[in-house]
Amino acid sequence: EAITVQELAQRMAERGSDVIKALMRMGVMATITQSVDADTAELLVSEFGHRSRRVSESDVLIGMTGEEDAAETLVARPPVVTVMGHVDHGKTSLLDAIRKADVVSGEAGGITQHIGAYQVQLGSGQKITFIDTPGHAAFTEMRARGANVTDVVVLVVAANDGVMPQTVEAIAHAKAAGVPIIVAINKIDLPDANPQRVKTELLSHELVVEDMGGDVLAVEVSATKRTGLEKLEEAILLQAEVLDLRSNPARSAVGTVVEAKLDRGRGSVATVLVEKGTLKVGDIFVAGAEWGRVRALVNDRGQNVTEAGPAMPVEVVGLNGTPNAGDDLVVTEDEARAREIAEYRARKKREASSAIAARGSVEQMFSQIQAGEKKEMAVVIKGDVHGSVEAITGALTKLAADSTEVALRVLHSGVGAINESDVTLARASGGVLIGFNVRANAQARDLAKRDAVEIRYYSVIYDIIDDVRGVLSGLLAPQL
Ligand code: GDP
Repeated sequence: EAITVQELAQRMAERGSDVIKALMRMGVMATITQSVDADTAELLVSEFGHRSRRVSESDVLIGMTGEEDAAETLVARPPVVTVMGHVDHGKTSLLDAIRKADVVSGEAGGITQHIGAYQVQLGSGQKITFIDTPGHAAFTEMRARGANVTDVVVLVVAANDGVMPQTVEAIAHAKAAGVPIIVAINKIDLPDANPQRVKTELLSHELVVEDMGGDVLAVEVSATKRTGLEKLEEAILLQAEVLDLRSNPARSAVGTVVEAKLDRGRGSVATVLVEKGTLKVGDIFVAGAEWGRVRALVNDRGQNVTEAGPAMPVEVVGLNGTPNAGDDLVVTEDEARAREIAEYRARKKREASSAIAARGSVEQMFSQIQAGEKKEMAVVIKGDVHGSVEAITGALTKLAADSTEVALRVLHSGVGAINESDVTLARASGGVLIGFNVRANAQARDLAKRDAVEIRYYSVIYDIIDDVRGVLSGLLAPQL
């Protein structure tokens, strides 16, 4: 006999929607009323940091064992920042400039290593961690895997170019993830720089900067002249303070893989950001469907370290396989447990890829809403001309506004072909893509196919409205 998702959630005192999401990450598609087998339940329970005791093959008992870190154990941790923005607006230059200006790496004279993330220390001793894969593709790819490592997004906008299509995409990605944005108005050194224009343009994307009466921090910088960098760092720390980022460093580590590769000399290597706890040499862990024992930890200056605390990027050597970016890393009590979880996940992954993944389809959204778990329909709308995109967005928003039970969330709308960014955005939020007189490009089609994200094409606005009305009313139909 099995246990329902609902009962599991209740026993763990977790939200049903969180349990469903965790199951999805494990490749199991279940609604709140469906049952999962004992193996799955046991694994899920450990995913949430609870301990389970299996009384018989068919039953899982959950004991609540110190899974939540007590308030007094929580210590402030550095913020983790991702830099996004339109191509050529200076993301890479800005990341380089910040890194070069870092006191500690200057002092240590260490050779900076590209490990996917780095940390800088300010004069005050405070630290900031930067993910150094700029752009929203990596960001949303990770989020689609359930990893939300970014605390703050720095949106780079070139002062001479203003808000461009990928700026708008980046805003949509950050907003969908609920991550606060700080605007870095870059290239301020150029004679045709016009920061005021940038601020005005941001208004139409609901980013109201401070000196226009809003609460979005904006800093004028020049990555090449290295001006304004300290102001930007201060703004990031200010935002971090508001977020009150804390975690318990004194426990076994839980973190996220931000980059992984197969290294010729060292085997599989993963760059990990620890979220809570401290990762130590010798620790045994699972990372996605792989496991390992920490043989060495290497920091962003190529130095060996013995441990890594919250938000400190380290390369982990000692993996038995290469995990994916966005996979979690969890230290386990022993090797048997690590192997067991890794094998289980590998099996589930194989099963999931042979079955038709339903992630992001209207049908799945339907079942989730019926299960009372999701009262929101998320869409990405792309069209051939601005006017029609606006008309569609307006009509659908109105449709949803008339419904008291289902909200429509427009993750992003814009002009042009459906691209990879749109697909990852829809996928990460379990949404649907709508193309009006536009198609998806080849990469987007491949990605959508791989991730089973639904793309619906239309050439008549009324058809869209009809379809969405159908979905909404279907969702609203009484459960039998
Ligand atoms: P990315 O595509 O957003 O990563 O942009 P890059 O960092 O590659 O920069 C694109 C171009 O803009 C490069 O030629 C940079 O040298 C230039 N650039 C970046 N930041 C600045 C700046 O602050 N001032 C000026 N004048 N040029 C910059």
